[in-house]
Order: sequence, then C-alpha cells, then structure tokens
Amino acid sequence: MTDARIIDGKASAAALRARVARAAAEVERAHGIVPGLAVVLVGENPASQVYVRNKRKQTIEAGMRSFDHTLPAATGEAALLDLIGRLNRDPAVHGILVQLPLPGHIDPEKVLDTIDSAKDVDGFHVINAGRLATGGQGLVPCTPLGCLMMLKDTLGGLGGMEAVIVGRSNIVGKPMAALLLRENCTVTVAHSRTRDLPLVCRRADILVAAVGRPEMIRGGWIKPGAAVIDVGINRVPKQGEPGKHRLVGDVCFAEAVTVAGAITPVPGGVGPMTIACLLMNALTAACRQAGVEAPEI
Ligand code: NDP
Repeated sequence: MTDARIIDGKASAAALRARVARAAAEVERAHGIVPGLAVVLVGENPASQVYVRNKRKQTIEAGMRSFDHTLPAATGEAALLDLIGRLNRDPAVHGILVQLPLPGHIDPEKVLDTIDSAKDVDGFHVINAGRLATGGQGLVPCTPLGCLMMLKDTLGGLGGMEAVIVGRSNIVGKPMAALLLRENCTVTVAHSRTRDLPLVCRRADILVAAVGRPEMIRGGWIKPGAAVIDVGINRVPKQGEPGKHRLVGDVCFAEAVTVAGAITPVPGGVGPMTIACLLMNALTAACRQAGVEAPEI
C-alpha cells in the first residue's frame, strides 16, 4: 500500500484565513461593520501566551479588531465575570474568547456560561452546545469545525461513513460527534472505558483521535484507506537531545501513514485550522449581531 495523502492543515488554514479576510472586507464595505474579537488571558501559562499572540496577529491580519485583556493569575472570579459583563455590553466586541485553562480558583463553566452566547466564538456556551446537539443555528467549537472542513475537502460527501471519535470532551469529542452525525455519518464515540478500542477503531472510515496520549493509536488499529484526523498535541522529550521537546499527536504517524488513505500531521494539521475557524466564527457572530447576512466563506 502506498503512503497516505497528507492533509495539509497549514495550507487549508491559510486559504480559509484569506477567504475570511475577503469576506470581512466585504462586510465592512457593505455595512460598515468591523468584527471585534476580545481575548481574555488569565495568568502566565506559556503555551496560552503563544496561542493568544497568534490569535491577535491573525485577527488583525484578517482585517478585524483585536481587544486584549491580560489579567494576573491571582485575578478573582468576580473580577473576571465583571470584565465579561462589560465585554458582553460593548457593541464593538462581537466575539469573546476566554483562554483555557483558567487558574484553579476560577470555575470555567461559570465563566463560559457568563459569555453572551451570541458572542461565544469558541462555541462552548451551553446554549451553543445545545443548538449543535439539536440541529439549531449556533456557534460551533473551532477545533471540530476545522476537522470537519478538512474531512469534507478530502473526502467530499461524508454521508453513510462509519466515523469513530476517540475522546468525549465537551470541546472536541462531543461536538465532533454532533457535526459528523449532522453529515449523516454513523458515529461511535470511544473513551477510556471503551472495551477493545483497537477493534472499534478498525471499523472507522473516519477516525478522529482527541485523547491527549502521545501516539496511542497504532497503525494496526486503522482500517486500510481510512481518513485519520489527529487532534492530539503532546510534548514529548526529543531522543538524544536532553531538555528538548517535540510535538506528537495521539496517532503513531509513522505507522498510520502506511495504512491510512489520508492523515493530518502533528504539527501542521488540526492546530492551524482552529484559529482560522475562530476568525470565521467572529465574522459570523458580527454579522448575526448586526442582522446582516454573512458572505459565503
Ligand atoms: P480531554 O482530556 O478533555 O479528553 C480526553 C478524552 O480522551 C476523554 O474523553 C478520555 O476519556 C479519553 N481518553 C483518555 N485516555 C484514553 C484511553 N486510554 N483510551 C481511550 N480514551 C481515552 O482532552 P481534550 O479533548 O481537551 O483534548 C484532547 C487532545 O486534543 C489533547 O492532546 C489536546 O491538547 C488536543 N487539542 C488540540 C486542539 C487543537 O487546536 N489542535 C484543541 C483542543 C485540544 P474519559 O472521558 O473516559 O476520561
């Protein structure tokens, strides 16, 4: 069998960002609306700082406004909720994103549910989760949305396919399942209590790994020709280079690439698409708040 097609998330994300930027310019020209995205970071988690920097840069490059709120780790829950209340009321802010994880003394669920669901560009608010589950029009979590776009680009129609998602988190696994169900896939959600995970994975035409365990999914778990989306981002020590790290996914890429039909690499797969989808959600949110139709992206 020849090696799988590599799904280039970087290229897909660059193309999506360019389409979003064109659409944002069109919305500004036609309606005078400049989408504004507020990003709230509490504390000094280095990975979050890098992520937030990238979001800010890409928001501005897409022709949108970026409002940054960096708060010390000791910020109390009440002060954070107060800031979110102000952002909810600010008409220049169309999207609000609170970077996770939050410090332990702050209840993330309370924070996420305080964000106005119309401005919840991460799609984590219980109203948006409910709309996705019931087929309504809400804002969809960015990572699974990016995965779905790459799957459709790679496979075309997904109807009737067997999809297996490993992981059932609220931010990846569950919304991914809802999206694939909406595309008429037959969906299985596996998790840490699943019996015989390799057997379950082997029936997947579409296998999505969102576990957080480096290279857990082996080549022998993959159906020949399957499309494999690796959401995992794991830092592991670099062999022979003490103190250095490299990023790997939840799928053993070297094995999987010889069996799968198509596969996303880590890095360069799902990650870049997540921010591009965030920008798309910010534009969608801005148009809906203004009561104007969002251009086709
Ligand atoms: P969570 O830790 O919230 O969820 C992990 C899921 O994996 C749980 O449902 C858990 O099952 C399941 N799981 C854990 N161990 C096993 C096992 N041995 N066998 C089967 N299932 C198992 O993680 P997230 O969903 O937040 O993230 C998953 C990965 O995706 C992480 O590596 C994260 O860094 C990455 N990620 C990447 C993003 C991107 O932009 N590319 C964005 C978000 C996440 P159970 O429920 O039973 O405990």
